[in-house]
Formats: sequence, structure tokens, C-alpha cells
Amino acid sequence: QTVFLSGITGYIAQHITKQLLETGKFKVIGSVRSEEKATALAKNFDNNSDLSFVYVKDISDRAAFDESFKEHGAKIDYVIHSASPFHFNATDVNKDLIVPAEIGSAGIFKASVKYAPNLKHFVVTSSYAAVADLFKDNDPSFKLSEKSWNPMEFDEAVTNSLFGYCYAKKIAEKTIWNLGKELNVKFNISAVNPVYVFGPQCFDSSVTKELNTSCEIINQLVHAPVDAEIDETIKASYIDVRDVARAHIEPLLNSEKFNGQRLIMYADRFGKQSIVDVLNKIPQLKGKIAVGTPHKEDNIASELAVVDNSKTKELLGFEFKSLDKTVKDTALQILKFEGKL
Ligand code: NDP
Repeated sequence: QTVFLSGITGYIAQHITKQLLETGKFKVIGSVRSEEKATALAKNFDNNSDLSFVYVKDISDRAAFDESFKEHGAKIDYVIHSASPFHFNATDVNKDLIVPAEIGSAGIFKASVKYAPNLKHFVVTSSYAAVADLFKDNDPSFKLSEKSWNPMEFDEAVTNSLFGYCYAKKIAEKTIWNLGKELNVKFNISAVNPVYVFGPQCFDSSVTKELNTSCEIINQLVHAPVDAEIDETIKASYIDVRDVARAHIEPLLNSEKFNGQRLIMYADRFGKQSIVDVLNKIPQLKGKIAVGTPHKEDNIASELAVVDNSKTKELLGFEFKSLDKTVKDTALQILKFEGKL
């Protein structure tokens, strides 16, 4: 069984790859943007012969996936589309965030339909950003579920990177569902919609001074000086990267069960204070980093919109990792990289 995984160098995608290879059931063809990145990743995976690479330079190009699918399409059983820009510092919101998300989705989906006749299941890495209403996320009377959609429209989305990213994820996911209907495809489709993803990088050697957008929140707090104030700018939700990776693989193993489903990967709410509380339990950090006001955010979930992902949990049937576990594992890997363990 062969899986085509776009954006294999990504934080989440590397964990997906690791878990796919560990099952012993899958070969993985991953798309990368450069040979250098492919060589480094192959090395991390001990040059596993079940792992190979294709070059897809920029998913904003409508034909970006065509060559690789023309070459490998006949042997592809599953597609996981994970490549998409995830950052909040776009200079041109449309060009940097929206276009690659939307055109990338359309490009890989159409290439799958055209060149992968044996495709059984297509999984798209979407986001909670495609589900939530940014303006109601702080309203505890607002309830979200797998049926919810971000109502953001293009004109508002282009006004800043946060809005742009959230809209981009919505449009990228919608493109997949719409094309699935329009083209009347025979294969099954699922979306995975994670909230902020934390947890260690797949390989210790991938830790860098600055981490991927979500883990960088923890990285900053690991380095917050003792007297730093803990601001309340982030009131969001978390999920562990290992749980997110698994949610991409379950649909491949139980295709019918997951067909047409959106999986909201949400463990619980958090704020920066909640993270600082966990970090201060780590002996190497205690007394050396900011403390803030301990336990101030213990009931943060009651202040925010209610996320009902019971359907997702029922489908997946496994427990999501706790904030304690995911933050500790992320921080310990950073400390190891810095030689502080
Ligand atoms: P990363 O930034 O680690 O990975 C992004 C991946 O997409 C990389 O492989 C990157 O390639 C590739 N990519 C980005 N832009 C392009 C482009 N224009 N052309 C080709 N490839 C591109 O992020 P994550 O692993 O965190 O995110 C992966 C997916 O998960 C994204 O779809 C993101 O929206 C989604 N997501 C992430 C969450 C999180 O908290 N981390 C939460 C919810 C959803 P390269 O390495 O070469 O730059």
C-alpha cells in the first residue's frame, strides 16, 4: 500500500511518516521542495527503503503535482495532503497564504483524480481555523462541532495574516469537499482539523533555535525570563502532534468508517499561563523562568466557546494526550538540544 504525502518535511507530516512506516503496511512517497531537504529527512529515517521523495517546488503552481502523479499515480493507494504555509507573517496575505492553500488543494486533488486510478482515500490536513468563528471563540455560549464552518469571507481575510490563514484553511478544505462532489469521485475523503499542535519534533536533530509556528509558543515560554509577565494574548486549544498524526492514519486503515468525516483534533483549552504552570514543574526550569499567576487559567475552558468533538473522539476511540504530557515532552526536547538536561 502506497501513501503520497505532501509537505513531508513539515512538523506534523514527519510524525505521520514515522507512524505510517512503523505499521509496516505502507510505503511513503513524500513531496519536498529541495533535494537537500529530502536527503536530510531520508537520513533521519535511516534511509528506509519504504520511503521515497518527489519534488514539488511550490503548491501555488496549478500544475505542481502533475509530474509526480503522472509518474507514480498508478501505484498510489492513499493521499495525505499536508503541505500548506502555516505562519502569521505574510507580506501579501493572498499570495503567501490563501493562494498556496487553495491552489495546492485543487492541484493535488485534481492530479489524484486524473492520475491515481487506484486511490482509495484522500485525507486533507485542514485546521480548527476552518471550523471556528474567530469572533465568537471567546463566547462561552457559542458551541462548535464537526459541522461548523468558519464564516470568514475573502475581503476580511486579506486584512491580516491571522484572518488570512484561517480563511485559507477553510477554503483549502472546502475545495476538497466541493471537488469530491463535482467530480463524483469513487474514493473516500476525510479532513483532519487540529487546533494548536504541540509535542516534540519527530527527530531531536530537527530542533532549531526557532521552532514551527505552534511549538514556538512553548519555545518562547521556556525562555521567558523570571520577571516576565505572562500575557493573555493567546486563549486557544491544544492537541499533541502524535495524536494528530494517528488521526491521519486511522482513515486509511478504516476507510468506510471515516468517509466524509471531519476530525476535530482538540484535547482542551490552554493559555500561556497554563503552559507556564506545566513548565514550572520541570526541575531544570523551576526558578529559572517566569511564573506568572499560577493556576489562573485552570478553568479557561469555561470562558471560551464550547468545542464538542464527541463525534471525532467516538470515531477515533483513543485518548488524547494531556497538556502536561505534550508541553513537557516539547520542553524536554528543547532542553536536550540546548544541552541543559
Ligand atoms: P510546517 O510549517 O512544519 O509544515 C508545512 C509544510 O508545508 C512543509 O513541508 C512546507 O515545506 C510545506 N509548504 C508550505 N508552503 C509550501 C508551498 N508554497 N509549496 C510547497 N510546500 C509548501 O507546519 P505544520 O506541520 O505545523 O503544518 C502542516 C499542516 O498542518 C498545514 O496544512 C497546517 O495548516 C496544518 N495545521 C497545523 C497546526 C499546528 O498547530 N501546527 C494546526 C492546524 C493545522 P518546507 O518545509 O519546504 O517549507
